[in-house]
Amino acid sequence: MKSLQDSVANLKMVGAKRLESLHELGIDTIFDLFMHFPFRYDDIQIRQISEIIDQDKVTIKGIVVTEPVVSFYGARKNRLRFKLAIEHEIITVVFFNQHYLKSRLEQGMDIAVYGKWDEKKQMLMGMKVLATKQEQEQQFASVYHTNKSIKQSVWVKLIEQAFCEYSECIQETLPVHLVQKYQFLSFEQALRQMHFPSSQHLSKEAYRRMVYQELFDYQYKLVVLKKKRYRNRVESIRYNNTVLKDYITTIPFELTQAQKRVMNEICRDLLAPFCMNRLLQGDVGSGKTVVASLAILAAMSANYQSAIMVPTEILAQQHLETLQKLFDKTSIKLALLTSSTTTKERKCILEQLASGEIDCLVGTHALIQEDVHFFNLGLVIIDEQHRFGVKQRQLLKDKASIENVLYMSATPIPRTLAMSVFGEMDVSVINELPKNRQVVKTYWVKENEMEKVLAFMKKHIHEGKQAYVIAPLIEESLDNDLKNAQEMYEQLKVWFGSSVTVALLHGRMKSQEKEAIMNEFSANRIQVLVSTTVIEVGVNVPNATIMVIQDAERFGLAQLHQLRGRVGRGEHQSYCILVANPKTEQGKLRMKIMSESHDGFYLSQKDLEMRGSGDAFGIKQSGVPDFKCADLIRDGDIVMQATQDAIEYVTILEKENEIVV
Ligand code: ADP
Ligand code: MG
Repeated sequence: MKSLQDSVANLKMVGAKRLESLHELGIDTIFDLFMHFPFRYDDIQIRQISEIIDQDKVTIKGIVVTEPVVSFYGARKNRLRFKLAIEHEIITVVFFNQHYLKSRLEQGMDIAVYGKWDEKKQMLMGMKVLATKQEQEQQFASVYHTNKSIKQSVWVKLIEQAFCEYSECIQETLPVHLVQKYQFLSFEQALRQMHFPSSQHLSKEAYRRMVYQELFDYQYKLVVLKKKRYRNRVESIRYNNTVLKDYITTIPFELTQAQKRVMNEICRDLLAPFCMNRLLQGDVGSGKTVVASLAILAAMSANYQSAIMVPTEILAQQHLETLQKLFDKTSIKLALLTSSTTTKERKCILEQLASGEIDCLVGTHALIQEDVHFFNLGLVIIDEQHRFGVKQRQLLKDKASIENVLYMSATPIPRTLAMSVFGEMDVSVINELPKNRQVVKTYWVKENEMEKVLAFMKKHIHEGKQAYVIAPLIEESLDNDLKNAQEMYEQLKVWFGSSVTVALLHGRMKSQEKEAIMNEFSANRIQVLVSTTVIEVGVNVPNATIMVIQDAERFGLAQLHQLRGRVGRGEHQSYCILVANPKTEQGKLRMKIMSESHDGFYLSQKDLEMRGSGDAFGIKQSGVPDFKCADLIRDGDIVMQATQDAIEYVTILEKENEIVV
């Protein structure tokens, strides 16, 4: 029985060498071949000389009126030349390095040539002779991504052959009711139109179906995964409610409504007999850490260990301190593990971890090393989760006895994107900032206004506040207009004089140095911290109220928002000053948007629109699917629709007992 899962080796044209080349392109089966779509269609409709313009790529039909002549020149170069009569005009056709065409051409022949038109010379630089009638009638030529060993013309033949031999195997892949609902082409029709479009309209229709199909298939899998997780029974975390209540009374501030709601969602997950897989989204400064502390305490009260992994050492250190302070009146035992933990210390920690003495381990990537073993890890928290790759997150999960995972993220991801990237997760959102917060006033100034900025900083520092100054690079670079952190630091030291302590922090410093500086800054023994973007994630010094960002136009909106999030973390009015002379309209627009909006969700949406999906949030890392046709930003509405359809479809299947998830 033939099947689309058959190897492409079944096609006559595919021998060992081509099999290898196809494999390199990720094509092993007939289905893979069908799904290798052209990335471009060239319009090869036959044109009149009068309607074409210089350098157009066109197809011209005519009669060969001179004997084709080949001339050789240079090492391996040759040129084939002949005249073509089109109605009353005669043009020259030249092919470079395709002298073998001569044997196929003769005077008096009726042919069509695809090529590039040179108006001045009245000459067509031939690219292809369209030999068959079918080729001449085709309106579009498909152009495929390929590697050296497979030529464009071979693709067409390969796919034609596949259609010839396997078309009866192409079955509808979408549920029939959805094909009807959206009036889609059948899968077979759509495939044919993707490869050999017969009109622009049908080509678009094929594409519309493929976009939907990709999104539906993907969402379907996510829905099934989620259901499976709910059904897969695990031991629940029976935490002690009294312990939690007592703890809450010791927190030095009142939890916001949003924090309480999110906390309940997490507690419900812990109690439920399935694994927690929850994303906690909350804008910078919304207070995610204290929520995490509640989850850690809950796990501890049920005799489970927890681990919290963060992307930088500064952050790990800071989380440890924050948690220590918060847990002051509890019996919880915390430990810190990073790459700068000494061997001796590390050994001791690993022992206490394996024996269950340590209740919560805070750390960086150091947590996922092979020899780190827990006694009974029941809760994994990954802060700034987008900073970690899928694999790293999995490694930590694998250490757990019960895979309860809480991901935390301060980069709000637009809903439609989150639905795909985090589709199998439950999502909690802290959509409220603590009451004492004031909006960070944001100003955009030009480089020549720096003097004013410095005076502003001085005034606030004399009132007891602190400031960050962000410089993008640490050493002289080719781009010498980039402010150099070192230089900036020297200048500021001179400018502020001895009454103000200025310090420098950058990524190449040893972690002890970084830590020491952060401690000094926290204690207000440093007033101005010049830093590269190492400061970007999570750092919390509420007395710092000014954030000056040099060359701000070089950052994306999401990153600027993160940087701005380092201030406005206490009750004092805070300021963010963007120093930028943007040269592009986009750069100017970004500065304007930043000065006007403080809404992380809005900014991330804008960032995506301006930069396109993908890198904006390191989403690629988070395991965003590599779609062929769909685009999570452009096709946001279809994502919503396809998700809804997938949920309904799974429910139908479950009712009919078609799937048991
Ligand atoms: P993020 O969500 O960015 O990780 P943090 O958890 O670091 O935010 O919290 C930011 C600051 O807000 C911390 O200083 C924290 O103590 C404080 N905070 C958190 N929740 C509240 C609250 N409900 N009321 C007042 N301050 C709070
Ligand atoms: Mg945080």
